[in-house]
Amino acid sequence: MTVRLRGHHLLCLLGYRGMGYSDEFCVNMTSIYETLRTAPDTEIEIITGPDDICRAYPADKPGHCEGTVYDLDGKVLAQLGLAPGFRGSWRAVCSQVAGKVAPTDIALLCTTCPWEKYGVCREGVRLIASGKPLPAIKKK
Ligand code: SF4
Repeated sequence: MTVRLRGHHLLCLLGYRGMGYSDEFCVNMTSIYETLRTAPDTEIEIITGPDDICRAYPADKPGHCEGTVYDLDGKVLAQLGLAPGFRGSWRAVCSQVAGKVAPTDIALLCTTCPWEKYGVCREGVRLIASGKPLPAIKKK
């Protein structure tokens, strides 16, 4: 199994705590999050544009997966030293996060994100950087 992810979702996953845009979106994101949390050797492919998380974004909500969010993908990948086309384990992605991202970087990178204020993403980065596990999320 390969999980296809765009740049900024590599960080969003660290802060995922069960909140999201719809029930269907959360079921899909919880499944991806729990797969990576419990099987960190799962292969990640970094892609450009809508990915395995975007595929469950609700069609009746304002468009979100195209447009300026590509800029955020680029900024996150540049910070991580990764690029579209990368294939490697989720463990390897987390190792890049631990070495190249500080919790305070989330506020600098994610200036337009409505979830930033909750502090869960910077907490996720802090956990990864300190070698601690991400919390389990109960499946709905
Ligand atoms: S603040 Fe938003 S864009 Fe940034 S990692 Fe968290 S959920 Fe993703």
